[in-house]
Amino acid sequence: MEDCLFCKIADGRIPSKIVYQDQDVVAFADINPQAPHHVLFIPRRHIGSMAELTAEDGEILGKLFTAAAHVARDLGLDSPERGYRFVTNVGPDAGQSVLHLHFHLIGGRKLGWPPG
Ligand code: AMP
Ligand code: ZN
Repeated sequence: MEDCLFCKIADGRIPSKIVYQDQDVVAFADINPQAPHHVLFIPRRHIGSMAELTAEDGEILGKLFTAAAHVARDLGLDSPERGYRFVTNVGPDAGQSVLHLHFHLIGGRKLGWPPG
């Protein structure tokens, strides 16, 4: 997608602080972090949001989740006394502001539930 911010980040047209990348997945630091650790995980292939997913996307979802679990472990977030959250926002009520599927990995502080 020519005009998509996260497609541009995925192919390097816009700089970002890359935390992890492979053939299918890119993870980079959120520009406006909401916690000591706030990393966004995206598929390189443009998908607008979770609402557009089909059964064929199972493999990329598995890759996004396992990449996030590895990064969380590397950041020390998966110790017994810590933890983290991995979430995606869909649509205006959830506050989705970039229309390219992304998951927020958030951790490093106590997280409230339910979200405000
Ligand atoms: P959402 O509100 O769920 O759509 O999340 C979009 C996220 O993208 C927000 O947390 C923003 O801070 C983040 N964001 C926007 N532009 C950039 C950018 N250029 N680099 C890194 N993160 C960004
Ligand atoms: Zn995109």
